[in-house]
Amino acid sequence: MASIDVYTRSIEMKDLYKDNYNPERFLSYCKKCRNFNRLHSCPPFDEDIGSYLDDYPYITLIAVQLFYTEDEIEKYSGEDACMEYTKETLTPVSNQLREILLKLENIYPNTLSLSSGGCNICPDCNRIEGKPCRYPDKMRISPEALGFDMMGILKEYFNIDLQWSKGSLPKYYTLIVGLCSMETLEIASDEIAQLFHN
Ligand code: SF4
Repeated sequence: MASIDVYTRSIEMKDLYKDNYNPERFLSYCKKCRNFNRLHSCPPFDEDIGSYLDDYPYITLIAVQLFYTEDEIEKYSGEDACMEYTKETLTPVSNQLREILLKLENIYPNTLSLSSGGCNICPDCNRIEGKPCRYPDKMRISPEALGFDMMGILKEYFNIDLQWSKGSLPKYYTLIVGLCSMETLEIASDEIAQLFHN
């Protein structure tokens, strides 16, 4: 049965900009993604997002790893089985993490969370029909949509290498999100892990 591990790291936002920020490069990747211009959480944005995080000099990075057992990797090999099982196991973790981030925003005042990947709250995003977001109170932008290098951040701050499925499950998937704050926060990984079990 898959299991999760949680890690946290609180840093100054300026450090994130210094080594792991390249909006031009990541916008070019976003343009190749099927979510580009189709989700309100994804580029291109109506407003200039270069200053989106200016009010938040600190960020707590949260990395969540979903580990698979050897049995699972063996059982769900092959493109279709692997994709299906990834969806079945990773999507609930990602959805739970989104809810946890909103809880953290309530627990820690004056914070803003950055979510993982494109928003999947609605089956079809309102942006496709040119309508406003249905849940602006819940939808959060991801760090990569803002131009941050998630692979670099994972390596630098957690010494984790991203893994993907290649016709079979990887040993683990990693989700990385953040809680931006006006002051330094010390959020223990146990606190987040606990919220996963509530
Ligand atoms: S909450 Fe719904 S409408 Fe808003 S970005 Fe997410 S999918 Fe789109």
